[in-house]
This record gives sequence, structure tokens and C-alpha cells, in this order.
Amino acid sequence: MANLAKLEDIVSLCKRRGFIFQSSEIYGGLASCYDYGPLGVELKNNVKKAWWKSVVHMHDNVVGLDCSILMHPLVWKASGHADKFADLIAECKSCNTRTRVDHLQNHAEEHTEHVNIDVELAATHDLSNKVCPKCGKVGNFTEPMPFKLMFETQMGANVDDSMTLYLRPETAQGIFANFKNVIDTTRVKIPFGIAQIGKSFRNEVTTKAFTFRTREFEQAEMEFFCEPGTDENWYEFWKEQRFNWYTELGIKKDNLRFRDHDPDELAHYAKACVDVEYKFPFGSGDWQELEGVANRTDFDLRQHQRGMRTLNSWYEQKGDLTQIQLKDEAEDYNKGPLSYFDEQAKKRFIPYVIEPSAGIDRSTLAFLVDAYDEEEVKGETRNLLRFHPALAPTKVAVFPLVKKDGMPDIAHNICKELKKYFTCFYDQAGAIGRRYRRQDEAGTPFCITVDGQTKEDNTVTVRDRDSMEQKRVSTDQLLNYLRDKLEI
Ligand code: ATP
Repeated sequence: MANLAKLEDIVSLCKRRGFIFQSSEIYGGLASCYDYGPLGVELKNNVKKAWWKSVVHMHDNVVGLDCSILMHPLVWKASGHADKFADLIAECKSCNTRTRVDHLQNHAEEHTEHVNIDVELAATHDLSNKVCPKCGKVGNFTEPMPFKLMFETQMGANVDDSMTLYLRPETAQGIFANFKNVIDTTRVKIPFGIAQIGKSFRNEVTTKAFTFRTREFEQAEMEFFCEPGTDENWYEFWKEQRFNWYTELGIKKDNLRFRDHDPDELAHYAKACVDVEYKFPFGSGDWQELEGVANRTDFDLRQHQRGMRTLNSWYEQKGDLTQIQLKDEAEDYNKGPLSYFDEQAKKRFIPYVIEPSAGIDRSTLAFLVDAYDEEEVKGETRNLLRFHPALAPTKVAVFPLVKKDGMPDIAHNICKELKKYFTCFYDQAGAIGRRYRRQDEAGTPFCITVDGQTKEDNTVTVRDRDSMEQKRVSTDQLLNYLRDKLEI
């Protein structure tokens, strides 16, 4: 099924109903930064909760972590980000707009991966047939140049001990840096995973399409450590797990697909990588990356061993850490400080890593787009968000039919009781039909109405968002009824 929602519809609904606002709007806004409003923060928290449950709590061998955003500069030297995390850009000589070279269009399809840039290779791109997205001039670009994506900041007040640090561009490195801590303090045994959700920052050259690509965003990443040789099986396992997560939470199968990376697209250390793509309603109705699942081999842990060796020599020489050269790998790297000892097999090795890396903001946007629906009801258009109950910001709304005859008191009491179990919203303002429509638009699965009959037989009506069907349910059965339907 094609996506019904157009991006403008989603943006307008998000603003109108308090899901997502432009950051610093009262000052004219800050480009590509967004704030989540009262409904948005509930939705996004539910997306994070659902990810955490599926990746951490449902697996005996996955544990969680929450690392700091600021990390030692050598982390980014070892990971390769300090030297290579850049986009190749070219400047239009007519209007001075800088664009990512891989976003420039001619007849080729749009391609949006960040790539690790080798500066020497930058000049080999032929831009003679590319169009400037701003002014439309063809082939009028400067030589491509790398543009670093990490935000820099300064730590410390004194010149002597102040350091240049980076805001992390991914959460994964905090996991690698804590690999040893987790092994030493828990009883995890390989194969096992460490998961984290948190903010990441990238000074993106081109941002587009609402919250799809922003400069501050949240990632949900898991590094799954396994014995070399078992990595291909675990790669397939996590691929499937992650795909199913989206469909189980309501994303339509037709709007989701895998796209394997071509060999020339793969990072040099990756053995395999696949994107989970969603058919977003922007551009030309493009398939865009929601999440990547990669086989990162033993690259990161080996690199951090090199980082640790480099630090030892830096203590003797001092100097600018961002400029330091990494020491070569030790010959017996398989026995290094980040190696793993398998007690049973009595062998030591550096584990391979399978990494599912998802964007929380991107998946939240996909859940919004996919849930959006419009239908004609009695000559009027009904807008609704058909959220999966686990994601719905408000699970239940409670209304008195009218503001008299004791109905508000009964409705208040029901709402107060239900709030102990899930998000519940009380509303007595306006005609009942309008109140239903407002909840449809917020994606609330059930509305409960207290009416004249309630006082007589202790029943209320429960209206289903999707079918609009109403059922009378006895108030003492209400909690069980709702928990069953909401699967909570
Ligand atoms: P893209 O190709 O879209 O720039 P990427 O391949 O560089 O993304 P990864 O480094 O694999 O992205 O990051 C993992 C996930 O983090 C992505 O699949 C996406 O969901 C999310 N993500 C990355 N960059 C951004 C961003 N600027 N804004 C929002 N989410 C992002």
C-alpha cells in the first residue's frame, strides 16, 4: 500500500497537535533542530521503550549502558572519526551553496550514505553533469572537498589543561570503550550485546525533510559481540529481529524493505551491511534508511587497543591529542587488553561485532507517517493516527457526556484509577463528536464516555479509534477490558 500521508500533512498535524515544533521558534527557529511537544515526547519515549524492551529485556544476553556524550579525544582518533568522518562537498560557483557531492543530482538515483572520505580521492569526482539544487546551474562547482561532521567544543577553563573535545557523532563508541568494564563487572559471556540509546550530533551539510536528517538526534544502537566464525549467523539473526520490530509495531510491510550495501559502499572494516529502508513520502517517494545493520568485524576493539597503546606514549610526550598519530597494532593483538578469554575453549580472541544502529527520531517519523490516515465519515474528513497501542501517546481518554448530573465526577474517578496503569486523558469540553475526533487525531486507541445510563447500571461506552465501534462495558470490568485490548 502506498503511503497516504504527504510530508506537509504530517508537519502540519505535528505542529497543530503538539507533537513536534521547530527549535527556538520564538526566535525564528534554528535550522534542522526540533523539539518534541507534549504528545511528541510521549510518542518518542514509547518508541525508545519498545526498542529497549525488544533489544535488551527480551534477550538474556543483552545488557544496557548509558555513556556520557563527551569522551576522551583518543576515542575518535581510534574509531577513525577524527580523521575521516566527513562528507565530500562542492560549492556552486554561481550561488556559493555547498552541497554533498553524493546528493548532487544528474540522471543517477539519489544516494545518501555518509562515506569515509580519503582526502586524496576527493578530486576524482566528475561534477560536469551535476545540477546545483539551489540555483540550477549545471557543472559549475569547485573541486570537491571534505567537510568534517563532528561538532567541536572546548573543555576546561585553564589554557594548560583545556582540551578540544567532540560531541559524539554516534553512541556506539561509548559501548566499545566500556566493553571491558561490562565483562569485568557482570557475568556476560560471549555471545552477548551491549545496548544504548542517546543523543548524537553531526554537523550535516544538507538537512531535509523535517526530523529525517537533523544535526542533533537520538540513536538506539547495540553492539553484539560474538566469536569470529559465528558472525554471519548472528548478522542474519539481528537483521530479522530488527525488521520484525518495525512491522510488529504496525509499519506496513509494503513500506519496509532491506537494501544490501554494494561492496564499494561498505566501510573498509565492514564485512556486510544492510539498511532497513522505509518508503518516506518526500523526494520522489523515496526509500530512505531507517536503520543500518552491520558486521563490523573486530575493527573497533582492535582500534581501541591501538588507542590505548598510543595514550601510553602520549603521557611521555604530551601535545595536541587531536593531532596524535595512532601507534601500530601490537603483533599479538589477539591477546591485547580488549581481548576476550573463552574459559571453556581456553582461547583468547578479539570478538566480532554485529551492530544494529537505529535512529529514534527517524523511526518516530516513520511511525507517524505510517499511522496517518484520512477517511470520509458522514460527509466529513476524519484524520487519525492508527498507532500501535504500545506507541500511542495517550492510551485512553475519558469523557462525561455532559457537564452535569454527576457525570464529570464519575469520569474523573475512572480517569484517576486508570492513570495508575497507563496514560489517560480527561476532557469535558465541547461536543462529544469533536472530542472523539481530537483523540483520533492524537492516536488515542480508546475513548470512554460516562452517560446517563452509567448511574443506572454502572456501564460506560468504550469507543474504538479504528472501527469507531462502541461497546458498553461495566466499570468493574473496564481495567481488564482495556488491558486486554491494549496488551499492557
Ligand atoms: P545517512 O546515510 O542517512 O546520513 P548514515 O548511514 O550516516 O545515515 P548511520 O551512521 O548508519 O547513518 O547512523 C545510524 C542511524 O542513525 C541511521 O540509520 C539513522 O536512523 C540515524 N541517523 C543518522 N544520522 C542522522 C541524522 N542526521 N538525523 C537523524 N537521524 C540520523
